[in-house]
Amino acid sequence: MNKMRLVRDRKWFFQYYPYHQMHMDNELLKGWVSLNYLTDGETRFWEYEKSGAVPVCGKDMIWLTIIPDDKSRCIGAYFLPNRRVSVWYIDVIEEAGIDDDGVVYYIDKYLDIVLTPQGDVCIKDRDELDAAYASGELSTAQYEDALREGELIVKELGTDIEKTEKYCRDILEKAEEMISGDRFTIFLDIDGVLDIFSSKRAIQELLPQAVQNLKELVDRTKAEVVIISDWRYGSLKFREKACERGYEKIIPNWDNLVATFEKAEIQIKDVTPWDDGIANRTGEIKRYLEEHPWIKRYVILDDCFSDTYESDKEIRKHLVFIDALKGLQKENLISACGIMNMQKSEERP
Ligand SMILES: [Mg+2]
Repeated sequence: MNKMRLVRDRKWFFQYYPYHQMHMDNELLKGWVSLNYLTDGETRFWEYEKSGAVPVCGKDMIWLTIIPDDKSRCIGAYFLPNRRVSVWYIDVIEEAGIDDDGVVYYIDKYLDIVLTPQGDVCIKDRDELDAAYASGELSTAQYEDALREGELIVKELGTDIEKTEKYCRDILEKAEEMISGDRFTIFLDIDGVLDIFSSKRAIQELLPQAVQNLKELVDRTKAEVVIISDWRYGSLKFREKACERGYEKIIPNWDNLVATFEKAEIQIKDVTPWDDGIANRTGEIKRYLEEHPWIKRYVILDDCFSDTYESDKEIRKHLVFIDALKGLQKENLISACGIMNMQKSEERP
């Protein structure tokens, strides 16, 4: 039997997309729910008799996964951008659990049921189930349980498809309500991340490709950007203090940053504190997190010239180290998404 992770990092490579999971215990459901927001990518289709070609993944689709605690099934509802379900893919499962990194997984028991809004009901991979039984991988009880669960799925979800769609949409809405306010935050350094610093220049030159890469990350993860660089001394918040302390040279750099971001349509949400009582960048981020306790998912993009984050192991887990001689690269985006999809231990039941 295969282990499948709801972040869908194997086979589907969805780990680069925003991922949320939660355990629900309400009038709709007692069980696990996860969401994969497919923020880009080509549309792929599956083909069924009544529905014809149905999109299964593609830009702006949402994969909703539901694993009820008291059933042996994993319901995948694939939502189109108009929030109608395109197709359901339901796995009969042996069990569900939580992986080492906090991601929910299930053990797939071969048999699958596909439903479409047009009325297709397909039982899939019965041959794989039979082969697993014949080879001795599954006991008689496991085999019979799988067949029984398959029949129940068809009966409970396949007979009134409108009711099934409403059930899934209600859970989607509930899940989104639960995660609203759970925005991703990017703590952004500038020198060595968006430029290759040169002490010979008064105004640093931002690298267009690095800015473009940042834009891609922000769009993909719907992130909010908080500047941690000393460049923030030039922001309106600290400008006066900067002049008093002889940092006025940073102001044109800040203004240039703001203009570049405006053009790229990247919003700066905030800056970390500037407080003489805080020793380093780790401390500044820590303070910011204390003042914004709703931030659970964040990443730090830094070339670590001024701070290596060694002083705080928890914060350091969120660091994506940027090579100061290259600036922000595509591979850094993949690391950043991986960190954003990490589940915090307190989110586990
Ligand atoms: Mg730097």
